[in-house]
Amino acid sequence: MYRTTGLHHLTAIASDPQRNLDFYSGTLGLRFVKQTVNFDDPGTYHLYYGDASGRPGSILTFFPWPNARRGRVGAGQVAETQLAIPTGALAFWIQRLTEHQVAFHGPTRRFDSETVLTFTDHDGMPLALVATDAAQAQPGWDGGVGVSDAMSIRGMHAVTLWVHRRHETAAVLTGTLGFRELATSGDVVRYAVDDAAPGALIDVRELPTGPGGTGGAGTVHHVAFRAADDEMEFGIRTQVAAAGLPITEQIDRTYFRSMYFREPGHVLFELATDSPGFSVDEPAERLGESLQLPVQHEHLRPTLVERLQPLHRPGAELHPA
Ligand code: ZN
Repeated sequence: MYRTTGLHHLTAIASDPQRNLDFYSGTLGLRFVKQTVNFDDPGTYHLYYGDASGRPGSILTFFPWPNARRGRVGAGQVAETQLAIPTGALAFWIQRLTEHQVAFHGPTRRFDSETVLTFTDHDGMPLALVATDAAQAQPGWDGGVGVSDAMSIRGMHAVTLWVHRRHETAAVLTGTLGFRELATSGDVVRYAVDDAAPGALIDVRELPTGPGGTGGAGTVHHVAFRAADDEMEFGIRTQVAAAGLPITEQIDRTYFRSMYFREPGHVLFELATDSPGFSVDEPAERLGESLQLPVQHEHLRPTLVERLQPLHRPGAELHPA
């Protein structure tokens, strides 16, 4: 069967773009890898964060709508976004969150080998830092904001889905995407692909009577899974369609090519190709430094530059535009 190689990116809704940038690129020290607009609503930003190269699996993206109302995290959503850190970075992050006045819970233990800190961003989006020995193998990033390469976040660890009926969602994960059931911790069942490394994991928690989530600031819009290439993406598409789930045509998102479908638990899934990546429209060493527009919106540049609020990049003194 055709199978994903793990998580590609996750897209969430935020409110103020500068606060979003300050938190993810400043406090959390992720690289700001792309400053662009929402292709379907070009008067608003689409901000991308990741590791040094913006590799698939490291990417968090946000639609920051300045006056967005808060959503409610609930069933039918990605309810927690887990970010990977090396075991040796745990004490650093406890100190950093404390210094930045980010209230956190933990450390607590999950599964056999994970130590976890949980907190939310300024829009209330639930996040976790998950410390494992395996995270060490992933590349880091030093953006000059006080998070060294060694301590830095190594991309996504896993995401946690909340659904009313786990088995229906599990059937899609295993039957169309190639995940396998890996482990159970409390009321959470973990699924994995490949070597079950950070970024190849998805957790599913069944909440039979839990209230459904509502979209808005602080909630996840969709989660995307890696397709190594077009052949893999179209192959997975066939498996999704065979399972009776409607799936879109392939859509060019400039940095990857995407297809979307909703799993039975109502979470929006995307397939996204590994290529071409974020250096397709600006040099790898200058990622995120200036506004990039897709060809179909380039003619709007003067209007958009006037309309979009200017952003100050944390660490810009070290990496001037
Ligand atoms: Zn996406």
